[in-house]
Amino acid sequence: GNAALTPFGTTIFATMSALAAEHDAINLGQGFPDTDGPPEVLEAAVAAIRGGANQYPPGPGVPELLEAIAAHQARFRGVSVDPRTEVLVTVGATEAIAATVLALVAPGDEVVTFEPYYDSYAATIALAGGVRRTSVLRFPDFAVDETSLRAAFSSRTRLVLLNTPHNPTGKVFTRAELELVCELAREHDVWVVTDEVYEHLVFDGAKHVSVASLPGMAERTLTISSAGKTFSTTGWKVGWVSGPAAAVAAVRAVKQFLTYVGSGPFQPAVAVGLGLPESVFTGLARSLQGKRDRLVDGLRGAGLEVSVPAGGYFVVADAASLGAVDGLAFCHELPVRSGVVGVPVSVFHDDPQAGRTLVRFAFCKRDEVLDEACRRLSS
Ligand code: PMP
Ligand code: GLN
Repeated sequence: GNAALTPFGTTIFATMSALAAEHDAINLGQGFPDTDGPPEVLEAAVAAIRGGANQYPPGPGVPELLEAIAAHQARFRGVSVDPRTEVLVTVGATEAIAATVLALVAPGDEVVTFEPYYDSYAATIALAGGVRRTSVLRFPDFAVDETSLRAAFSSRTRLVLLNTPHNPTGKVFTRAELELVCELAREHDVWVVTDEVYEHLVFDGAKHVSVASLPGMAERTLTISSAGKTFSTTGWKVGWVSGPAAAVAAVRAVKQFLTYVGSGPFQPAVAVGLGLPESVFTGLARSLQGKRDRLVDGLRGAGLEVSVPAGGYFVVADAASLGAVDGLAFCHELPVRSGVVGVPVSVFHDDPQAGRTLVRFAFCKRDEVLDEACRRLSS
């Protein structure tokens, strides 16, 4: 096989979901909701299938979705993109990340990112022959460390890959933190690739700041998002990337040979979703905030120290407060001992000590599922 991928093996999500099934445990590992999203979106997919949208869609995406993505960028982010040349629909954000990294990174180029990172970042950087240079976000506040971030940049840096709201920590990057990233990107004349799949899932009045909306950044930023989290349709795999036309064309060239096109009947349905009233987006965030509080209270009740997330699907807890010394071992025992599955944060780190005792739990689940998980963890 491709030697670059040898260290990666099976993803942690597959491993932990298999453990959940084997022990009939509550799966708070992989992040996916257990309820459906807006009925208008679901009905639009059914209508698209019935209407015959079942063959290859156009390469860049169906026109109504390209236009809906551009309108969504303008409406929520104040960013203007041309739907014909500056937007590309992908098979989930996962393909957008892979195609973007493969398009921009040549062997030996360096990519600056933060750890813990979403697992596909490390794998796609490796596939491109790139070199990962990271800055560690540390429990419990996961603040950006300016010194290590500056040190991660060099003359070989090609791009910065960041994620806000952040998986696995639930951190929402502050404007000041993003401005520091942007200042460094400009200083080193590199791209910023920003994964904003949790853009609508922010809590407590926190504000999601989109990198492309910051002064002077649209020309060097590629923004990635996905319908999976916004409409609770993670299985539909509709994602997108937007940014300057030349860069989007380069990403499209790669995408053609990864999947060619994808998600035919789901694309018009997501276009419907992106045009729904604001209350649909804020309603989801409000509902998730309640679930976050439920899980945070339950984990604290079980004796765990937690970092309260400002966004996303996940809460990170420190199993050291229960005497654990290794989060990976803890997560393998937890389904057997307590009937609950979480994900060890250490697998999202390069630094073997960082995040060593941390565990990520998903709260995008029905209240009764969260309550039962908390009951099991307490006993
Ligand atoms: N980026 C991040 C940070 C994610 O958490 C996820 C979903 N787990 C993805 C990308 C992938 O999104 P999609 O399912 O649309 O491919
Ligand atoms: N984004 C989800 C998570 O982090 C699912 C990832 C996956 O299954 N690849 O849990």
